[in-house]
Amino acid sequence: MIEKTRELLAGIARDLLARGLTDGTSGNISILDKPSQLVAVTPSGLPYLDMTADQITVLDLAGKVVWGKCPPTSEYLMHLGALKSREDITAVIHTHSRFAIAMASVHLALPSITVDMAAYCGKEAPVIPYQTPGTENLASHVADYVQQGFRAMLLANHGTLFVAPEADLLIDGAEALELAAMAYIRGSVLGKPQPIREEEVNKLLDLVYGQKRAV
Ligand SMILES: [Zn+2]
Repeated sequence: MIEKTRELLAGIARDLLARGLTDGTSGNISILDKPSQLVAVTPSGLPYLDMTADQITVLDLAGKVVWGKCPPTSEYLMHLGALKSREDITAVIHTHSRFAIAMASVHLALPSITVDMAAYCGKEAPVIPYQTPGTENLASHVADYVQQGFRAMLLANHGTLFVAPEADLLIDGAEALELAAMAYIRGSVLGKPQPIREEEVNKLLDLVYGQKRAV
């Protein structure tokens, strides 16, 4: 069932570890297969180092497991909330990456202060107020922010979320967010990090998403 999507997802999961965006098994990924309306998600508690397509779980949009031996990530509700909240979003990544989680721990929104962040994430990564992980509450807050047009978000005291129209953008987006968080924290030692002007952010967004971007 949706084998190509599961293979793609397993590859991204391996990359997540290789690119230093997760330690161990934290963080998770989902991809919506548009034709079947089924969602491939990372399994709960399995290491990403040599993840294979057979370990990926497939859910319907109501959250029922329709394929796979492994239970889905405990954060699947948040993924479904994001995927269902906007037509153009088909892929979601959640990380506990180190610098972004530091910003999330002090509830500090991250403005776009690097060109990579602007191109992938838009003008800001807001902080979503703390909600218990794995709950409907967190899912509905996430859905709300995605609906408002945010691509990148910090989950208070928890981690990050990045949503995209294509799965190929997930790792680059998560990495751009992490790098900007690092630049913000380290740059603050030297001075005040300077956000990129909004019209410039829009030009950079077009480089990644093209003229057709919805927001
Ligand atoms: Zn988490």
